[in-house]
Amino acid sequence: MKKTDFLVTGGYGFIGSSLIRNLLSKDHSVINIDKLTYSSNINSLENLEDEKNYKFYQEDICNENSLFTIFDKYRPFNIIHLAAETHVDRSIDGPENFINSNILGTYNILNASYLFWKSLNDNEREKFKLILVSTDEVYGSLSSDDIPIDENGLYKPNSPYSASKAASDHLGRAWFKTYKLPVIITNTTNNYGPWQFPEKLIPLTINKCLKHEKIPVYGDGSQIRDWIYVEDHITGILKVIEEGNSGEKYNIGANNEVRNIDVVELICSILDKLKPMKDDIKYNSLINYVDDRPGHDSRYSLDNNKIKNLGWEPKFTWQKGLEKTVKWYIDNSEFLKKDVNKIYSGERLGRIT
Ligand code: NAD
Repeated sequence: MKKTDFLVTGGYGFIGSSLIRNLLSKDHSVINIDKLTYSSNINSLENLEDEKNYKFYQEDICNENSLFTIFDKYRPFNIIHLAAETHVDRSIDGPENFINSNILGTYNILNASYLFWKSLNDNEREKFKLILVSTDEVYGSLSSDDIPIDENGLYKPNSPYSASKAASDHLGRAWFKTYKLPVIITNTTNNYGPWQFPEKLIPLTINKCLKHEKIPVYGDGSQIRDWIYVEDHITGILKVIEEGNSGEKYNIGANNEVRNIDVVELICSILDKLKPMKDDIKYNSLINYVDDRPGHDSRYSLDNNKIKNLGWEPKFTWQKGLEKTVKWYIDNSEFLKKDVNKIYSGERLGRIT
């Protein structure tokens, strides 16, 4: 394998593994760089040992020398940078890893990309793209009467996680403006789907229900998030690679705002149908309101018109996507039991005492 179609960072994470499954199904060649932190899962990409189009490097993106070697060897023209520390509660407990992976790590990806891109001829440079995958959380918290935020929205991050992602976005912008490196930034909303580490609301709720444990709901549960099924996010990223312009930002959201408590209630009602508890006990009887997260943002909402104008549409409705997700966790309860419960048993994180 010499010239690689795609280099993906964070490919054993929730979104990265979904992206790689999609790329390999279309016969693209893929290099995956992942440090394999607690939120990654090696089983999310199975049976790839003999796959000639796939190569994995267990590397930390904070180690720039390993990036130079990989760029030199594979000469990737499409880079999708997902590797990051991603869990807000953990960023409250220990921000340092977030600063390293999300800021220094992105700098290293930009630097390695720039040195490689500079070595290309004009024709080859035209084909090069670096996508930085980011979050709606960089725009901060909206109030209930704010309109959905578009790509020109001001950055007002409130958590160490979102601040580190905002810094990463700013670096990407600067590398385009200063060095003309073809960088595109995508900001997506809350993703859900298979293989997500159960510290996030949806898999946490499903995991708690399957274990018949209390379901923690932060504060009064009225916080609003804008949800997108992970496979729709992936088609959005690929649309931006095909049709997007360097130096631009694209929001990838599905116009699907739901209060946290309504997310939990819907999961409970899906489980009542798919896996009823004994004696007709309802899953929502497990709901337990707990102290709110410090600095908890009340609402996120993205305007997705710009990417829709490229010809992209989300395919999954909320109900269909959530049912598919719940069913996946029921069918793959080994993932929760063996792979995840060893690392994280559902305890409360991100409290300042
Ligand atoms: P995840 O936590 O499931 O996966 C992150 C992956 O990155 C893991 O496999 C981990 O091992 C790897 N990683 C972390 N630090 C690394 C380092 N220093 N070097 C190499 N690899 C490292 O996260 P995810 O949900 O798949 O998110 C992927 C990207 O999408 C992140 O950049 C995140 O900020 C962004 N994003 C996610 C969501 C969401 O709802 N999940 C929403 C908006 C944006």
